[in-house]
Amino acid sequence: MTTAYVYDPFNRHHTFPGHPENHLRMERMWALLEADGILATLSRVPNVIASLDPILAVHSVEYVEQLEAICRDMAGSGRTYEEDLHSNEDSWSGENPPGCRWLDQDTYVLSHSYEAALRAVGGLLHVTDAVMTGAAANGFALVRPPGHHARPRWSKGFCLFGNVAVAARSAQQKHGAERVLIADFDVHHGNGTSEMFYDDGSVLFFSIHQYPHYPFSGDIDESGRDSGAGRTVNVPFPSGVGDAGYIAAFRQLLIPLAQAFRPDVIFLSAGFDAHWMDPLSGHRVGIGGFVAMIEELLALADTLCQGRLICSLEGGYHLDALPHCVLSTLRALSGDPAGISDPFSSVEERPQVRTAQQVLSAVKRRLGFL
Ligand SMILES: [Zn+2]
Repeated sequence: MTTAYVYDPFNRHHTFPGHPENHLRMERMWALLEADGILATLSRVPNVIASLDPILAVHSVEYVEQLEAICRDMAGSGRTYEEDLHSNEDSWSGENPPGCRWLDQDTYVLSHSYEAALRAVGGLLHVTDAVMTGAAANGFALVRPPGHHARPRWSKGFCLFGNVAVAARSAQQKHGAERVLIADFDVHHGNGTSEMFYDDGSVLFFSIHQYPHYPFSGDIDESGRDSGAGRTVNVPFPSGVGDAGYIAAFRQLLIPLAQAFRPDVIFLSAGFDAHWMDPLSGHRVGIGGFVAMIEELLALADTLCQGRLICSLEGGYHLDALPHCVLSTLRALSGDPAGISDPFSSVEERPQVRTAQQVLSAVKRRLGFL
């Protein structure tokens, strides 16, 4: 069996020059994957526009209809996509040039954004289907816009639909998974995913993130509610924890939690903005750190849920680092760790990492581990 992936070039119609979450992230990634040749060893699943039913399992119908209407109105303005882009070349101003609207101070939409968001969800759902039916060993949805900040009733932080949240619920409703583990190593707290499952004991949500940092949620005390009590685990690290901090969080917290929870499938919100070259963060993780975490998740999935590990791209804004992070993840997923290399390991000495153990001890006290 192979690793399934999806890539939909339509994503380029949702872009904004000067904004960190733009189409060049995917174009640069795709160029490296094609040049490398790894794609021939993987299984590509078809692009698809998601139907609304799985999206409405986690988002309100009012939000979905409003997003569709906003994009439809812009399409009806008669402006072409190229005109949209041209009008926006002055870069990310936070204003409303013709052909673009801001849903919050960070999140833009253009006339094609609703369809792009439906395709991001649809692609991840196809990968989920492939893994859950056993057609693929594991999978990676190379999608944008990202999803983990999107809230049930509105967009947030570059995200329109909660891709992983939709897919997790679909794994339960369509494929009969009872318990779903969602790990999130994007440098930002996955506030949207957290909110969608905060009172749901069937989903264990584990997020490592820089704190305090955007979106300024995800403290240790946010640990779930009602039947979801204890099923939200936040690891809010100060900047600079590096590979050692992330790997320690996996080994000391995520692995024992997962072994006790016994998930039927594991999802990963795979954001690579914790990379030390990333312009939006200061966690200073390297490719070796990301690969170590993927391998821990692969081992967990092998032990607990027939290898079912489904990754979905979230952040990652350095246009040289992101492609290599994705390539290395695909190599790990497809069982070729010997092929992994880090072209940036000798570019710059990373500074001494700050201790992460104080935060990990506080999380353990909260969980009753200590
Ligand atoms: Zn992020």
